[in-house]
Amino acid sequence: MDRARDRSSPPHTSAVNATWNSTPKHSIVTSSSNDLRRAIRAFLKVRTSYDVLPVSFRLIIFDTALLVKKSLNILIQNGIVSAPLWDSKTSTFAGLLTTSDYINVIQYYWHNPDALAQVDQFRLNNLRDIEKALGVTPIETVSIHPEKPLYEACRRMLESRARRIPLVDIDDETQRHMVVSVVTQYRILKFIAVNVKETENLRKPLKEINVGSYENLATAHMETPVMDVINMLVKKSISSVPILDRDGVVINVFEAVDVITLIKGGVYDDLNLTVGEALLKRNDEFPGIYTCSMYDRLDTIFDTIRKSRVHRLVVIDETNRLKGVLTLSDILEYVLLEGEGEEH
Ligand code: AMP
Repeated sequence: MDRARDRSSPPHTSAVNATWNSTPKHSIVTSSSNDLRRAIRAFLKVRTSYDVLPVSFRLIIFDTALLVKKSLNILIQNGIVSAPLWDSKTSTFAGLLTTSDYINVIQYYWHNPDALAQVDQFRLNNLRDIEKALGVTPIETVSIHPEKPLYEACRRMLESRARRIPLVDIDDETQRHMVVSVVTQYRILKFIAVNVKETENLRKPLKEINVGSYENLATAHMETPVMDVINMLVKKSISSVPILDRDGVVINVFEAVDVITLIKGGVYDDLNLTVGEALLKRNDEFPGIYTCSMYDRLDTIFDTIRKSRVHRLVVIDETNRLKGVLTLSDILEYVLLEGEGEEH
């Protein structure tokens, strides 16, 4: 498994130390990958979202009265890409702010460039009006009680195509909402990788299993206008677009989270850049992209998840040309849904 650190150099190997809450290993004796997936599901059914939370963590919640441009700066300053929303008028949880919301704001501005003064004054509670103006399906406000089985949190995420789910409890005294944390696909897959020792048995290479996307891939070049790439993200409901050179060699990936830096401070001029120029705006700490080949096995991919904060792997051939995209949604779906029908 490799990862590329910059735009021009070929991917290279690197490992990141894993820090995680130590939970006893769940030991299951399994023979086939079907048995193993069944075992992972059984494991998720007896664990709750509380189990995946680290010993200590911070939670940043935004009041819906906050200006959109201010929310961008806070996300950047804190190195986060989403935040639960709180309506202080009604003291209720008001959904999860994600990069899709910022992409909606971008699209609104793009279609109404004369309305910059209005866009500048958008607050988080205007996000639903922006959805309506764009005619997009409102982003479903899914959430889950932290004591519900993790399995249910996963199913809810897959059904709503959410990549993260807020944990919302009810305060015993006030009977009001209490946002506990947010659980991501990455956190859950890492929890599985760390605790279900038998992920080692997922020895089949990607070539043999039906996981990931290998056809009709959305791709772009360094010269592609960044707005075209943002439109691809929306049109295909995906969170990344591989960037190729003229020979089809993968040189980078534009990620949905990259839009946050593009419009920071509420300045929309960078939307006129090409992808190559936009990628230069990335923070120096950008960890690089992860790649794998069709011959990599799912157990080695779980190993990477255990060690590093990976969100997707670009599948390449021996000449670094694009073959496919394997995201955490694909892996979660494979583990949770494949063969699930046979159980019932
Ligand atoms: P994601 O939201 O990135 O987890 O991806 C959602 C689904 O779209 C997964 O099945 C991915 O394999 C697929 N996908 C992700 N990126 C692309 C892309 N650039 N082109 C085509 N499909 C993709």
